[in-house]
Amino acid sequence: MSRQYANVIIDIVHTAVDRVFQYEIPEELWEELSVGMKVRVPFGKGNRLRDGYIIGFTDKTDYDPLKIKRIAEVCRDGIPIEGQLIQLAAWMKERYGSTMIQALKTVLPVKRKMKTAEKKLLVRKITEDECRELLSVYRRKKQKARVRFLEALSEDEVLPYEMVVQKLRVSSASFRLFLEQGICSLETEAALRNPIHGMERNESRVTLNGEQSQAVDGLWDVWNGDRCPSLLYGITGSGKTEVYMELIRRVIREGKQAIVLIPEIALTWQTVMRFYRQFGDRVSIVNSRLSAGEKSDQLERARRGKIDIMIGPRSALFTPFPDLGLIIIDEEHETAYKSETVPRYHAVETAIERCRLAGAMVVLGSATPSAASYYKAQNGEYHYFQMKTRAREASSLPSVEIIDLRMELKEGNRGIFSRRLVTLMKETLDRGEQILLFLNRRGYAGFVSCRSCGEAVKCPHCDVSLKVHRDGTLKCHYCGFEMPLPRKCPSCGSPYIAGFGTGTQKVEAMVRAMFPEAGVLRMDMDTTSRKGGHDAILSAFADGKADILIGTQMIVKGHDFPRVTLVGILAADLSLYSGGYEAGERTFELITQAAGRAGRDVLPGHVVIQSYAPDNYSVEAAASQDYEGFYWHEILYRKLLRYPPVCKMLSLLITSKEEERAEKMAGRVKELAEAEDRDGILELIGPAKAAVSRINDVYRYMLYVKCEEEEPLLAFKRQVEEMDWDRQVLYQFDLE
Ligand code: ADP
Ligand code: ZN
Ligand code: ZN
Repeated sequence: MSRQYANVIIDIVHTAVDRVFQYEIPEELWEELSVGMKVRVPFGKGNRLRDGYIIGFTDKTDYDPLKIKRIAEVCRDGIPIEGQLIQLAAWMKERYGSTMIQALKTVLPVKRKMKTAEKKLLVRKITEDECRELLSVYRRKKQKARVRFLEALSEDEVLPYEMVVQKLRVSSASFRLFLEQGICSLETEAALRNPIHGMERNESRVTLNGEQSQAVDGLWDVWNGDRCPSLLYGITGSGKTEVYMELIRRVIREGKQAIVLIPEIALTWQTVMRFYRQFGDRVSIVNSRLSAGEKSDQLERARRGKIDIMIGPRSALFTPFPDLGLIIIDEEHETAYKSETVPRYHAVETAIERCRLAGAMVVLGSATPSAASYYKAQNGEYHYFQMKTRAREASSLPSVEIIDLRMELKEGNRGIFSRRLVTLMKETLDRGEQILLFLNRRGYAGFVSCRSCGEAVKCPHCDVSLKVHRDGTLKCHYCGFEMPLPRKCPSCGSPYIAGFGTGTQKVEAMVRAMFPEAGVLRMDMDTTSRKGGHDAILSAFADGKADILIGTQMIVKGHDFPRVTLVGILAADLSLYSGGYEAGERTFELITQAAGRAGRDVLPGHVVIQSYAPDNYSVEAAASQDYEGFYWHEILYRKLLRYPPVCKMLSLLITSKEEERAEKMAGRVKELAEAEDRDGILELIGPAKAAVSRINDVYRYMLYVKCEEEEPLLAFKRQVEEMDWDRQVLYQFDLE
């Protein structure tokens, strides 16, 4: 790559990142510069020197080469945090396929607009020495107000606006020049507001048990050693959170900061409270419930060293801590760690790369590690620690039984509650204990089909079945298309058309009919869409305001309900039919997590798994809480069929409004793969229509390329990107 010109972004903390400026690189710097480095460049009419960051290089400039300005200086005192995030963006761009700007927008904090009611601050944007130099200039000029201002500014990086105007008696007219020149900037105190302020603190800690201490000591050795990633496998309730907190305490003691990723769905008040009790105001959170302003305030607090710990979902990964020491990823197997928008990054891989750049350590924790992570732990790519007993002495693992729904059917029970489950529910309610009923959302479709011809009613724009909504209309979940429930089958005209499958609402109605005295709560997309709905339902249930909680995936993630002694998993195996090579893994995870909700405290727990495939290995292994058993079965299957993590797989989704164009480009990609694969190391599958072959009238084709190694796939990906693409066709990569 030629290095004649550098693409530079300026003042990234306060300006949008889409403005890229080009500068010529003096020849003596060609070797030295790299992406993420901070440089000083002449800027604007007055050519004042401003700080900028290099985001890339080019040998072609979009401007008149004679007018282009040159980089003035390189800052050689290490790569600052913004620079590190820019390096991370460059890695993400390569790894996941996006533009540099898309990647930068993902990793850099968003600029926030100032609200008038907020307390204003003047923040120095040049170094202390530069400020003193400027001070001597204005002393010579004898401009007293500006001298007072610069004196104060060289002492303190941040000055309250009020103080400057009233105490120092410096008018805004006097420092406007400095604002224009980028010497200081006007910011807001609100940057320091804290969303979890004012809770009660309680620093009493539990005493770690043997397994926990072993895990902490082992992880601490890794931190003091090679800092390679670690996997902590700990069954639900084994006390992983306590291990994380002890590790964080040690890392903070070394003057470093920590990020804790928790899937949004599991990031409850309960969890945040546990951290707050231990670490007080040095903890903050970012989640989707905060406003954009509150969110960027938290990132700014991290950047300024006001906090040591940031808790949040996926995106908290990019918290601009100046001296990051540790990233913990709890429930590392969660699919939510993968971004659905470009760049489609995976939080685990990206955290590992960020830690590599920062010299920090990653800890992955889970009760059901992803097959990929466990495979790496087996291969020695990750350090490995495990905790196999529940932390609270009195609590033990629940007893589990599998009910074969096929037998129920044979014996004339067509309902979705087995007789055994109903009996246990009754007994549990009689004892005054609580019940969780878990419905596998992925399987329960709630679509409408014809009992004469078997056809489901489909969306006219997408290749999917329409779902029945509460108001009785049919809706497409992909494009939003709506239609009234038809009276006759659109295919054969038969009147025998009916809703199929069961949603949480229907389960709720059935439970209320069976147990009219019981208090019932339901938790699903409908009941939690209101702000705070999620927490409200969980705390009502935790406070004993209801006896039965019915829900989807949402109820099985990391909540602690000590009075729950019965967990019913209504149709455990439906996710087996969701397609994709990870179906078995998802099923195992869901059942294990759901079962883990029972008997968390002193009361013994009981779990009923209802299944149509009771002898499937995912169901069986989950019932006996046997992670290793599941893993060895699963990895054998992946080996036989050559799926990740045993080999690497590049998937390419090709889409177009015109089917022939998509098909043609998919064919060309296939030809390219065949032509380039001289060593015969690439295994090509497809192209074929995607599982959902049309969404919103856009046609979708899939192509998979497998290989033992990642590098040839990355090379192939670059070649595909350089192909002469039909502009009516779009494509998207995924590399597993
Ligand atoms: P995990 O994250 O592995 O599911 P948690 O950290 O949430 O487990 O711990 C489960 C429960 O056990 C929590 O209520 C926690 O307070 C308690 N606990 C954890 N470690 C200990 C310990 N060493 N002594 C007593 N109770 C503990
Ligand atoms: Zn029909
Ligand atoms: Zn549709």
